[in-house]
Amino acid sequence: MCGIVGYVGKSNAVPILLEGLSALEYRGYDSAGICVMKNGTPTTIKEKGRLSDLKQAIAATPAISSALGIGHTRWATHGAPSAHNAHPHSSENDFYTVVHNGIIENYISLKEMLLEQGVRFQSETDTEVIAHLLNHNHTGNPMETIFKTIRQLEGSYALGIICKAEPDTLYAIRCESPLIVGKCSHGTLLASDITALLPHTSQAYLLENHQLCVMNERDFFVYSEEQEQITPTPFPVDWTVESAQKQGYDHFMLKEIYEQATAVKQTVQCRLFEEGICFNELPQSNQWLMGFRSIQIAACGSAYHVALLGKDMLETYVRLPVSAEIASEYRYRNTLTNPQTLFIAISQSGETADTLAALRKAKKNGACCVAICNVMGSSLAREADYVLYTYAGPEISVATTKAYSAQLALLYLLTLSFSHRLGHLGQEEWEEILEQLKALPKQISRVIADTPRWVSYAEQFHNAKQFFFLGRGMDCFTGMEGALKLKEISYLPAESYPAGELKHGPISLIEEGTPVIVLSTDKRLFPKVLSNLREVQSRGAQVLLITNYPIGETDIAGEVYLLPDLHPLLMPSVSVLPLQAIAYHIAKVRGCDIDKPRNLAKSVTVE
Ligand code: GLU
Repeated sequence: MCGIVGYVGKSNAVPILLEGLSALEYRGYDSAGICVMKNGTPTTIKEKGRLSDLKQAIAATPAISSALGIGHTRWATHGAPSAHNAHPHSSENDFYTVVHNGIIENYISLKEMLLEQGVRFQSETDTEVIAHLLNHNHTGNPMETIFKTIRQLEGSYALGIICKAEPDTLYAIRCESPLIVGKCSHGTLLASDITALLPHTSQAYLLENHQLCVMNERDFFVYSEEQEQITPTPFPVDWTVESAQKQGYDHFMLKEIYEQATAVKQTVQCRLFEEGICFNELPQSNQWLMGFRSIQIAACGSAYHVALLGKDMLETYVRLPVSAEIASEYRYRNTLTNPQTLFIAISQSGETADTLAALRKAKKNGACCVAICNVMGSSLAREADYVLYTYAGPEISVATTKAYSAQLALLYLLTLSFSHRLGHLGQEEWEEILEQLKALPKQISRVIADTPRWVSYAEQFHNAKQFFFLGRGMDCFTGMEGALKLKEISYLPAESYPAGELKHGPISLIEEGTPVIVLSTDKRLFPKVLSNLREVQSRGAQVLLITNYPIGETDIAGEVYLLPDLHPLLMPSVSVLPLQAIAYHIAKVRGCDIDKPRNLAKSVTVE
């Protein structure tokens, strides 16, 4: 969500800022802008729309070259997406110029105060108050002024700031929204996330809340809120530039669909040994494990579907009450969290604002907090008691695929390891699942190889009014993920329902020709699901059955896709794959912007 970049150094800032912004495009945005310092004067260019619009505007202005600048892709929260609401925003006379990610919750009272002082506003954004407030508070020393100003701000922010009085210095500060800094051979850089820094550095430092970073062409310096200099400990960046590029695929989403076997393999193999599963990241004593009376898993979006699957598997195999929590609800709900709760927070980026808030609440209530995330050193990772990384590599597409699969694989490992340690899993079943877990990446590859098969299905149904997904047990949650993928990238209404629940209402929506995707991967429940399939079919639904149960097309008078027959626990890893491919191809036939779906952002850093 929103991208910030900054550069100060010996090279021309303009192409570096644009390259950085394009690496951050995937986070989602609706307008973009840059401000560069030229002979002590800031020059701002901003446009509504895509980065290509901004590039055109830059090309149309007399060539600008500058050693220092800030750039921004905006995901509008306050004020419509428009050129005048786009960032950067400046105070009068352009004394301070800022780019901002986040929301200033008390901006109205601050704006009223500034209006009374005679300040004139150019935009409807909350961000603009920051620029004017800096100007209003200016003490002659930007560092002092910035600290003074942030004490008046409520809400969340990552800020890149330039001040006319110090034309060779870039300032950065944050609270809740992420911001990282790095150094390269020709200068220092600032960005919302690591993908923008990959071409320049293999080390980065993630600013802590309220730390101020002062950057010049040689180095960056970090100061605490008390204005004391601190020594930053950078973390190594092990993602490659190539891993964040499309490499010949039409879309990042397609590339990431194909990368799922590797993502699962990398997540599993470092924890799966001949003797069993070992999480070196967690306490090894059974006493630790036996101390828990309940488990809560909090997440948003697709990660919430992983949480629902996790609830099912943990309850089945670990025999503890588990709740799957939508993080934005959990944070304000009267929850039953206590020191005997194992709390698991799942977020690809590790910066999801609601998930982070849920984790903090759980921590406050004394729970033991485990984070599952994909981005090293993210806020969630740092604030949790324990962190379990998924090794999916950078995920650029807004609609998640490989991070989802890696999260799911991690929950299998957790479930199996806990279950085995607590003695709930018989030796035979344990060995069977472990064997299959080792072979899971191969099975995933097999199903993914069928991705092109779904083109004709997409051509047939891309104009459908709505889609239904039906399934029982874990299949219902996988269906929810399939429905979400369709909604996200092809803008088609889609619903997932427990197959037996449909007749209690939503069956009234089934019409002649309505596409219904039925999942059935638990053989015990197959006859039940088949009856539900017949119910919709007799009301005109066009059925696609995705199952591991050997049944032919003629038996159901609809399309059948046969999945590899795995242990029921592992089936969600393969049953989701055709659903991702279907959503992808439908979006493609419909001509949608697959990697940057409208209104969506990758890492949702606001409430
Ligand atoms: N709240 C600010 C705005 O609407 C910043 C949005 C963002 O994070 O892109 O302009």
